[in-house]
Amino acid sequence: MTTPLLGQMMDVPLTVSSLLAHAARHFGSTEIVSRRIEGDLHRYTYRDCEKRAKQLAQALIALGVEPGDRVATLAWNGYRHLEAYYGTTGFGAVCHTINPRLFPDQIAYIINHADDAYVLFDTTFAALVDTLAPQCPHVRGWIALCDEAHRPPMQTSVLCYETLMDGQDGGFDWPALDEQQASYLCYTSGTTGNPKGALYTHRSTVLHAFGAALPDSMSLSASDSVLPIVPMFHVNAWGLAHAGPLTGAKLVFPGKDLDGKSLYELMESERVTCSAGVPTVWLGLLNYLRETGGKFSSLQRTVIGGSACPPAMLRILEDDYGVQVIHAWGMTEMSPLGTLSKLNWEQSQRPLAEQRKLLEKQGHVIYGVDMKIVGEDGRELPWDGVAFGDLHVRGPWVIDRYFRKEESPLIDGWFPTGDVATIDPDSFLHITDRSKDVIKSGGEWISSIDVENVAVAHPAVAEAACIACAHPKWTERPLLVVVKRAGFDVTREELLAFYDGKVAKWWIPDDVVFVDELPHTATGKLQKLKLRDLFRDHVLPSALEDGRNCALTPGAQGKPVR
Ligand code: ADP
Repeated sequence: MTTPLLGQMMDVPLTVSSLLAHAARHFGSTEIVSRRIEGDLHRYTYRDCEKRAKQLAQALIALGVEPGDRVATLAWNGYRHLEAYYGTTGFGAVCHTINPRLFPDQIAYIINHADDAYVLFDTTFAALVDTLAPQCPHVRGWIALCDEAHRPPMQTSVLCYETLMDGQDGGFDWPALDEQQASYLCYTSGTTGNPKGALYTHRSTVLHAFGAALPDSMSLSASDSVLPIVPMFHVNAWGLAHAGPLTGAKLVFPGKDLDGKSLYELMESERVTCSAGVPTVWLGLLNYLRETGGKFSSLQRTVIGGSACPPAMLRILEDDYGVQVIHAWGMTEMSPLGTLSKLNWEQSQRPLAEQRKLLEKQGHVIYGVDMKIVGEDGRELPWDGVAFGDLHVRGPWVIDRYFRKEESPLIDGWFPTGDVATIDPDSFLHITDRSKDVIKSGGEWISSIDVENVAVAHPAVAEAACIACAHPKWTERPLLVVVKRAGFDVTREELLAFYDGKVAKWWIPDDVVFVDELPHTATGKLQKLKLRDLFRDHVLPSALEDGRNCALTPGAQGKPVR
């Protein structure tokens, strides 16, 4: 047996602190701008940020926090939250970002499950902390992210962040860490059952940051001014708080006000070139622009993901506002980036209509993620854009197992995402559903996302959800639940007629119900489980007529048609 020849390059571990150290040294004067809870706009630089992150590390060490301990955050996007990211992970503690929009009971469950040593919180959450503290007896201290003057009146005895910082000088060297040490702990939102923890490593976080910055990914550069609307408590703001320092991009944090007006004003005043957020916030921003007639003077592109970006939104942003949309798919268990919609050279030579169809999909994987779709028998399905299957992924920033869970979620070394998708010959992914939201009509799948996308393209529709409804003949048929846009009207019949020629006939919903609002999860996704519960007893007209009206017969591809 010959001994393999080892390479002779430096063994420098990939640590989170190296990202900020790089930015502080090479982009030291680049700005980080934050709209604060206090109401003003705060500005400082990467150099200042690293010094304060080091002060925080010193303060936490003085409080007895040790490598491996979890330090949680309940905070909006801002400079103190960024300091918490680096000031904890930098010395080997784990930064546990908590979504404050979850129910207090769920948050208490997460804090106790993670066994958080300290919790850093924005003063907006003072009342929430008073509710949580009695339920979380193992937390050693709650730290308010403010100075003494802004300390809120509370029942819980809390420490003051700026006072802790003032006691430290920032004269601290980031210690060498093993790149396999834990960096961040992020919990899934737990739409089914209790939230589960994904524990990233320094290596996975840094590799993901490289992936996030790539040209065919979020394409970050030192010439960008980046405004992450996606919260830092939602999967590390999709990696922007790491890819920013990695590239030296200017960072702009919006704080707690995510309404259209506040975001637009910040984008304009800070000459933002790139942003990222879920479709719901873009809806708010677009409504604001429609009302005011505003245009973007610096914004070039935005990443939209977290749930499917309706093609109608994509068209408006690109055609009316000149903003390139990068449609992205990922999940907490994937740090989160998986695929992004960017064309290769050959695809960009095709007719415009064809390019646009491709860009509406969730896109192509970036290096670091591999994917496949499998059928019910576990066998891989073809990439023909037609076959639907369970989507499995693997790669160095994909979860291996959940925090404090023994059993592995993997199947043959692949992580089953719980999403159902097609992959086309261009290797573009198209998410059709979450497996638990799939509608099965006569044994064939209907994509609820595609059905919703048609509805929201109607001018009178603000939001739409498509769910399965029981049917005596077809087992399930689609029901469309719609929120009308204020000041607009549309009837059930008009909306159903709007589907003509836009989807296969048998995908057209059997009924439409109008409601005032739809239920959402803490991350702004449609809560279809709750909707299915609400409409459990809904009787479809087609079901009443016992199939006579829906007279389904096998179509050309053996699929039922109406
Ligand atoms: P949670 O799982 O806690 O709801 P995640 O942010 O991890 O929160 O959600 C990941 C899921 O969100 C994916 O598995 C997928 O179902 C959905 N999702 C994310 N991005 C998209 C997208 N671009 N299109 C459709 N679905 C998406």
